[in-house]
Amino acid sequence: MLDIGSIRKDFPLLDKKINGKPIVYLDSTATSLKPQSVINKENEYYEKYSANIFRGIYQISEKATLEYESVRGKVARFIGASTSDEIIFTRNTTESINLVASSLSKHEMKKRDHIVVSIMEHHSNFVPWQQLGLINGWKLDFWKNNQQGLLNLKDLDKLITRRTKLLAITAVSNVLGTINPIGQIVKIVKKLNPGCLVLVDAAQAVPHMPVNVGEWGADFVAFSSHKMLGPTGVGVLWGKYELLEQMSPYQFGGEMIEEVRIDKTLFKKTPHKFEAGTPHIAGVIGFGAAIDYLSALGMDNVRDHEKEILSYALTQMKTISGLTLYGPSDVKQKSGVIAFTLKQAHAHDVAQILDEDNICIRSGNHCAMPLHISMGIAATARASFYVYTTKADVDIFVKGLEKVIRVFK
Ligand code: PMP
Repeated sequence: MLDIGSIRKDFPLLDKKINGKPIVYLDSTATSLKPQSVINKENEYYEKYSANIFRGIYQISEKATLEYESVRGKVARFIGASTSDEIIFTRNTTESINLVASSLSKHEMKKRDHIVVSIMEHHSNFVPWQQLGLINGWKLDFWKNNQQGLLNLKDLDKLITRRTKLLAITAVSNVLGTINPIGQIVKIVKKLNPGCLVLVDAAQAVPHMPVNVGEWGADFVAFSSHKMLGPTGVGVLWGKYELLEQMSPYQFGGEMIEEVRIDKTLFKKTPHKFEAGTPHIAGVIGFGAAIDYLSALGMDNVRDHEKEILSYALTQMKTISGLTLYGPSDVKQKSGVIAFTLKQAHAHDVAQILDEDNICIRSGNHCAMPLHISMGIAATARASFYVYTTKADVDIFVKGLEKVIRVFK
């Protein structure tokens, strides 16, 4: 059980007021709030050892390098990677996925190769495949979910063929909240075609539930620090070491080279060959404090708390007339995110009226247009929860929805 009262004290934004009223933050799917320990750790780098990493043999550079590299180990342990060399720091989930797509397009993938993506992907796990596919002549197929927002694993028998080179799949939908059974999916895919790679978008999974990449068995896993209490501008790509070693660098420049001659360059080994240029040193170091924070809470507890808030919110929201919920109704299959529409008002109007009372929710297509098109709707409103969300937040939100209905009567 999480002690939410004490957790909330760690988040300075929850103490702030706008126009005399506190903030009810229900948009953690977009980005999470940051605890003071993360803010302090990022500042510590700037205040105490803000030198560049790997380059200096002086003490503050060595300290910065040590701090930065220790986070690689923390991330590896947090997601069950077998070695910290499998952890590549990027800017975000989007860049992690672009890294894989761009690198595979150079050697591993050929014209007429086949890719499968689920229809519930965030644009960042669809547009890179679509765009590089258009340039390179790849064939793309969609895995569609049913009315309850669930994928049917039997569909894989038809979707995965001998030509399929990659399945790009989200572990958790940022709209429906659907938790896809990645371990089972990977097993089926590898049985159907052992050469088919599986890339998992874990942007909404790693922050919200225990994740073990070894148990999943996928080839690549991408996620972002800013959705798990860490700074913006830092992402992670985990990949199987042998695979990463075979792949070409994504960008070229300093930091990632072993030796440069006029006619050729030798690159460093993985992960450094994928980290060209000065990285977001302060951000990575701050990210380490976010992992410490979540590890101290325990990811099972984080998931249990979200399940409790989710059940409560779903029950309360069912009392609102004209409200349609999207995604699974069983909380065991759903993460702490609720997309909905109101018959009485457009999603943007819902978000705007809630904002009058500092209730922060999202409206629109949430970077998942193919999913919204498949559901036949242009926009949904979305409330999402995290470690600091309380039932009182949900009550204020539900009262806000009742106000929306009164306004649009
Ligand atoms: N995938 C999913 C499932 C997401 O929810 C998001 C963020 N909304 C992303 C990818 C993209 O993350 P980022 O913007 O940090 O690259």
